[in-house]
Amino acid sequence: MNELYIDGQWRAPRAGATREIIDPLDQRVVRTVAEADADDARDAIAAARRAFDESDWPRLPGAERGRLLGRLADAIEADREQLAALETDDTGKTLVESRMDMDDIAGVVRYYAGLADKDAGEVVDAPIEGLRSVVRREPVGVCGQISPWNYPLLQASWKLAPALAAGNTIVVKPAEITPLTTIRIFELMDEVGFPPGVANLVLGAGVPVGAELSEHADVDLISFTGGIETGQQVMRAAAGTVKKIALELGGKNPNIVFADADFGHAVDYALLAVFLHAGQVCSAGARLLVESSVHDEFVDAVVERAQRIVLGDGRDPRTESGPLISAEHRDKVEAHVRQALEDGATLRCGGKRPDDPALADGFFYEPTVLTGCHPGMDVIQQEVFGPVLTVEAFDDERQAIEMANDTIYGLAGGVFTTDLGRAERVADGLRKGTVWVNDFHPYFPQAPWGGYKQSGIGRELGRAGLEEYTETKHVATNLAPQRSGWFGTGQGAGA
Ligand code: NAD
Repeated sequence: MNELYIDGQWRAPRAGATREIIDPLDQRVVRTVAEADADDARDAIAAARRAFDESDWPRLPGAERGRLLGRLADAIEADREQLAALETDDTGKTLVESRMDMDDIAGVVRYYAGLADKDAGEVVDAPIEGLRSVVRREPVGVCGQISPWNYPLLQASWKLAPALAAGNTIVVKPAEITPLTTIRIFELMDEVGFPPGVANLVLGAGVPVGAELSEHADVDLISFTGGIETGQQVMRAAAGTVKKIALELGGKNPNIVFADADFGHAVDYALLAVFLHAGQVCSAGARLLVESSVHDEFVDAVVERAQRIVLGDGRDPRTESGPLISAEHRDKVEAHVRQALEDGATLRCGGKRPDDPALADGFFYEPTVLTGCHPGMDVIQQEVFGPVLTVEAFDDERQAIEMANDTIYGLAGGVFTTDLGRAERVADGLRKGTVWVNDFHPYFPQAPWGGYKQSGIGRELGRAGLEEYTETKHVATNLAPQRSGWFGTGQGAGA
């Protein structure tokens, strides 16, 4: 199992452990892959440290690093179908979505390829005569990068592309249950010629591999995407060496529909907001807030279409939604729905596994709509991460904003209205890293992504995503040195 990529070599884990990767559609074993432990993680960290400290990688002209990343983007585009098929095998998402992911990934890598030589720092107008003041951007060093299972390669690409563009060296750890596309991108990086030790891959469980990356003194920065509780563990582990941290955590994202919205458009997007990738999306619009005067009619229209969503094999073009990622995850989603019903929610559709025997081996769960919800319920306060839409009614703009902000999360939110002033007021009021107006989900490499409140620390994508991977150094040069005569001249201080 030569699937660890360390110091430019494919190799097996020291202890020889393996893990079976399961297709969530039918529980077939897709592949058996290497499973690293803490020793392998330390090998990868040591390789990244050497490459940072001893090779010329961090000091190369940005244009050269950009050229390599540009070649990687070409390779991803050429490999799109294979990569998309792997992502669908691994996650169960539809091929249509996997292809979109691969296009987005190529776009992210190309964007940072283009930025690699754009941020040379700035010259400051120092208020001291004869002093040249320059602010430089330098790479941080060795970066540990831990990604989740819902968008395996997409989330990894948001980390590896800016880190490499800025001249860092990296150790990447994908989620242990979805490593296939990350293995493939490392094969592509090997082919396009990244120098040994610059990019390293360790597969394996959060503990010990992710924990080792978070703790190790030779890792200068840890970038993590995943759940809040794991993020807290990463933060605690990173505190031991005061590492830089970047956290992209969960979301509980409101989608606010006013009575003046275009009805059909808002219904369409209410479904898209929550049911994409079976709701396993950090930015899922899982909380629908509807103005009371249109609430019943709106919910009826959403439920009518939710009941018609076609579940199945993501490779079948008729399929609109695949399974959940695992049996354990489906158990969690089911527990959330049970609790919501005990707390007084009304089940309008779904709320169970599908009856179709053809889907019995997969981890499917029917698209579910719960009405009569309010912010006091656990299902409103916690991230369900499944195909479950909760509906709450509101009476006016102020109440909608208050309700939308009433969770610990602050990742994203949407507002549907034809009143431009209202759209801007609501966007101002939402404590979220991203607000969509009459839309839901669009994101792109040029704009930053990240969370307010407990949805995270720092930003990915955009220029901000590159800055996360840089240190700022101020160099002040005296252009005409003269004696200061400050001490020991017998003439008093500063004479
Ligand atoms: P998770 O927290 O269970 O795992 C994420 C990663 O952390 C995995 O690679 C895992 O192996 C690793 N890990 C587990 N324990 C660790 C530890 N102690 N130390 C270091 N690493 C450890 O999350 P998940 O279930 O894979 O992903 C779903 C979560 O990710 C959801 O909460 C979702 O909202 C969030 N997410 C957020 C964004 C965003 O942009 N904000 C994007 C995608 C997913």
